[in-house]
Amino acid sequence: MPAPPATVKPATGHTTKLNNGKSSNSNSNHTLSNSIAHLSDSRTNLTVNTPTTCQRLSEMFRRSIASSTQSSSRENTYEEIYPGPDPKHIMGSLVFCIHHKQGCKWSDELRKLKGHLNACKHDATQCPNKCGAQIPRIMMTDHLQYTCTMRRTRCEFCQSEFSGAGLEEHNGSCGQEPVYCEAKCGQRILRGRMTLHKSKDCAKRLRRCAHCQREFSADTLPLHAAQCPRAPLACPQRCDAGPIPRGELEAHLRDECQSLAVSCSFKEAGCRFKGPRQMLEAHLESNAAAHLSLMVALSSRQGQQIQMLKSAVSKLSINYTGTLLWKITDWSAKMAEARGKDGLELVSPPFYTSQYGYKLQASMFLNGNGPGENTHVSVYIKVLPGEYDALLKWPFSHSITFTLFEQGAQSGQGGVAESFVPDPTWENFQRPSNEPDQLGFGFPRFISHELLHSRPFIKGDTVFLRVKVDPSKIVAV
Ligand SMILES: [Zn+2]
Ligand SMILES: [Zn+2]
Ligand SMILES: [Zn+2]
Ligand SMILES: [Zn+2]
Ligand SMILES: [Zn+2]
Ligand SMILES: [Zn+2]
Ligand SMILES: [Zn+2]
Repeated sequence: MPAPPATVKPATGHTTKLNNGKSSNSNSNHTLSNSIAHLSDSRTNLTVNTPTTCQRLSEMFRRSIASSTQSSSRENTYEEIYPGPDPKHIMGSLVFCIHHKQGCKWSDELRKLKGHLNACKHDATQCPNKCGAQIPRIMMTDHLQYTCTMRRTRCEFCQSEFSGAGLEEHNGSCGQEPVYCEAKCGQRILRGRMTLHKSKDCAKRLRRCAHCQREFSADTLPLHAAQCPRAPLACPQRCDAGPIPRGELEAHLRDECQSLAVSCSFKEAGCRFKGPRQMLEAHLESNAAAHLSLMVALSSRQGQQIQMLKSAVSKLSINYTGTLLWKITDWSAKMAEARGKDGLELVSPPFYTSQYGYKLQASMFLNGNGPGENTHVSVYIKVLPGEYDALLKWPFSHSITFTLFEQGAQSGQGGVAESFVPDPTWENFQRPSNEPDQLGFGFPRFISHELLHSRPFIKGDTVFLRVKVDPSKIVAV
């Protein structure tokens, strides 16, 4: 059995010891490098460089000097200088290929390694194109075809012939290569036709709207054209006005178009005429009388509506609190009028004692009535026919208090007040009929004219009279 093969690695900048482990030589430190220094060549770069080599060479030199000075005639034998294993024996050692790790399975005697390397497919050789690259044989075909800078090749787009290096330069500028449009329209264009495409076909090139002169990308221009306010359109009523910009069409139809059917201006009054604008004039002229009677009818309908609204408003504003604060303005003028006119009665707005209660109204004779005539102000209350009379208790029996307020700093404190509780036998408080001239009940001598002027009852020509209805029948002053 031969000793197990030693591995010889290609030099990678460090020195490799080849140790023939089970050599018959007793010197186990003996290295192969002494004997196979000649293996090192430029191709494999197998360098053998151990300190032992130098030491031995200097030893040999020293001995040869010594022997010559000692006049020794005998030459030293190799064995004397290098006592160790026979190099012939080493060359017979079994080794792996230096490309063992790259996958070469070759293994044989060391002396056959050089021969093997001349054919080993993992060993590097010069590129036959003289591009300068050292390429393992196994990669050479690929190199020659794809990467060798000196290879002859064609541009796949324009079919021009190039060296490998020339093709690399040509790549990225070949006019025949399809590339995506720089304006991002999504199209692939031959590079050489890009300029033409961008100016003539590209969907993203800018185009000017012929009507409004604004710029749009070519693909959005049709959409704009369908909305451009300056685009001319024919009048949909086919009038003679000629093309009208889209943005002005609405105004044209509203104000100018002679063909558009328009309604008579008395439409609200009930005229049903509808026709081209140019016929409206004639219609108005020939229907003046009919229009007038339509207007009269309209105005009467509106009058009724106004009445309905008025009564609705007065219902909404009526007082349901049971307390009336009656503000009488222009007191002096009203007083003068009362003095000149016998029995002139001032009436308050009607009010209700509660939401579904009795309807009451106060009245006042500024120049007095009955026993108070010419000397006093008389105040009365009367029951008016109300909405809920049918459901109420009769006769009316709530107490009533009249208060005439003094005005100013002491307002609310001072004043004149009179109260009464209706007697069930009094006519005035039976359920009222619809006759309006029913008399009220009250105080003919409520306040004398003298007292009226001695304290601040009248301020700003205004007087306040409160009429308070109290269902408790307790007379409160
Ligand atoms: Zn090999
Ligand atoms: Zn090459
Ligand atoms: Zn090309
Ligand atoms: Zn494009
Ligand atoms: Zn436009
Ligand atoms: Zn028109
Ligand atoms: Zn009309």
